[in-house]
Amino acid sequence: MTEPVLQIDSLVKHYGQVRAVDGLSLTIGQGEVLGLVGESGSGKSTVGKCVLRLTEPTSGTIALGGRDVTHLSRRAMRPLRRDVHMVFQDPYSSLNPRFSIEQIVSEPLLRHKLARGREAAERVAAMLEKVGLRTEMMTRLPHELSGGQRQRVGLARALILEPKLVVADEPVSALDVSVQASVLNLITDLQRDMGFSCLFITHDLSVVEFLADRIAVMYLGRIVETGPTAELFAGPRHPYTQALLSAAPVPDPVKARERRRIVLGGDVPSPLDPPAGCRFHTRCPLAFDACRTVEPELADPRSGAHPAACHLVTAEHRPDAAVPGRTI
Ligand code: SF4
Ligand code: MG
Repeated sequence: MTEPVLQIDSLVKHYGQVRAVDGLSLTIGQGEVLGLVGESGSGKSTVGKCVLRLTEPTSGTIALGGRDVTHLSRRAMRPLRRDVHMVFQDPYSSLNPRFSIEQIVSEPLLRHKLARGREAAERVAAMLEKVGLRTEMMTRLPHELSGGQRQRVGLARALILEPKLVVADEPVSALDVSVQASVLNLITDLQRDMGFSCLFITHDLSVVEFLADRIAVMYLGRIVETGPTAELFAGPRHPYTQALLSAAPVPDPVKARERRRIVLGGDVPSPLDPPAGCRFHTRCPLAFDACRTVEPELADPRSGAHPAACHLVTAEHRPDAAVPGRTI
């Protein structure tokens, strides 16, 4: 088996008292797309920042291509930066307004001394074509482009070094709905064509349905359910995932009727002081006594189905694991 492109083990990132990420593990294989899904405040962006080393993890390890990079110095990290690139949410603020599109897209080539002059310009032109932009765009400034065009420039800049891993943090959520689908289709095509692995961060499950091979659902700094995309959509096991899916529009009226609609009360509790027991218990319509004190584990290796961190799921698949103190 080849090394995973990304392996995160027991990642913790606290900002002072704020427990943004609180013990998270995941792996992404070669050419695999993992959709990391959660509401705002779930810690999903912090995971992306830790992978890019834009922020230092509090504890845990991050390995790229089998190499532990958690404590590498900036300098030792530099050659590895060729292999990992980020696409940001906001195509307005993530491009330097004073630089031409050519300067923006060629910057990684120059920084890593991989090309310059005419060769760099040719590579930029070829990359722009790949993301569906005309080469005349090279002399333009970001403000002369539409939001969708700017996000295509962001993609061109992230992909020009042919990275092994792309971290995309809400890459379409700042775009008009009418433009979102075309940019998502482009990312899908580029991923299939170039074969990079991708950590795709989004608050919207429906965005990753056709793009991600696997999905990990986050709630308050932890993964509560993870599995192959089709399996998770067909049979979500955690009440939180069920709620997220039941909120999404279903075009098929038969399926829409079959789907149990779960409406969540309130907002995500503060990561300053996550609830004891199951972190979801304050909003879970199925919560019972033990949920308030006993934290459910994600691992469920005996069931054969994908793991979900919920006492009900554990009990369902492990008859010996009686639900502790259930009294509903
Ligand atoms: Fe709901 Fe309890 Fe399952 Fe948590 S463990 S998701 S509170 S039923
Ligand atoms: Mg975010």
